[in-house]
Amino acid sequence: MNPLFQHIEFLTGAHTLSQAPPDAGLEVAFAGRSNAGKSRAINVITGINSLARVSKTPGRTQQINFFALDATRRLVDLPGYGYAKVPEKMKRHWLQTLEQYLQMRQSLQGLILVMDIRHPLMPADLQMLDWCHGAQMPVHILLTKADKLSKGAASASLAKARKMLSERYGKMDAAIPTVAQTLQVFSALARQGIDGAEQRLGEWLDIKPK
Ligand code: GDP
Repeated sequence: MNPLFQHIEFLTGAHTLSQAPPDAGLEVAFAGRSNAGKSRAINVITGINSLARVSKTPGRTQQINFFALDATRRLVDLPGYGYAKVPEKMKRHWLQTLEQYLQMRQSLQGLILVMDIRHPLMPADLQMLDWCHGAQMPVHILLTKADKLSKGAASASLAKARKMLSERYGKMDAAIPTVAQTLQVFSALARQGIDGAEQRLGEWLDIKPK
């Protein structure tokens, strides 16, 4: 188990922002389309299987789940988005809540956005990125399930995603500074790219490298 996450514990599940823990200290959130591989990414990065299991418990899957690393640092598991079978009303509620969370949460230092490397940057992902861009929220993208592609195909997907991001966000309104977006290839199954993700988490949560 990674010592960073040794004392992690489930704090609370919030259905609305008002139910979230006090907005103090530092937190990093994980987001992604349903089935993108977010839970498994969280598992291999933290080394704790129960963490994502908590978030998958029926009833808790549609909550923002907050986990405490210590008194001042938190990890946050956001509900998966883009799932076709969710009723329209609930979808709207979540999109609104996510947008609010990204825009208002002072303690949020950055978002780790998980996407399937075989089809990244889908419309719902771009919506999340647009909000992050508007809120000047740094994003680190994990292009996961890389084990399903050859090395060459994974690199090509990374290059294509990078190009698309710089075209979309690089030259937007010059008054808004471009938000640092970083992205990397990842695989929970092959345990590839864990160091990169950990490093970003460490920077955002102000944790010294091991
Ligand atoms: P979530 O809905 O985003 O939390 O997605 P999960 O983490 O539950 O993963 C969705 C599906 O993709 C499951 O069947 C996982 O086993 C599979 N999966 C997740 N990560 C990987 C990966 O790195 N490689 C492969 N091959 N499958 C993965």
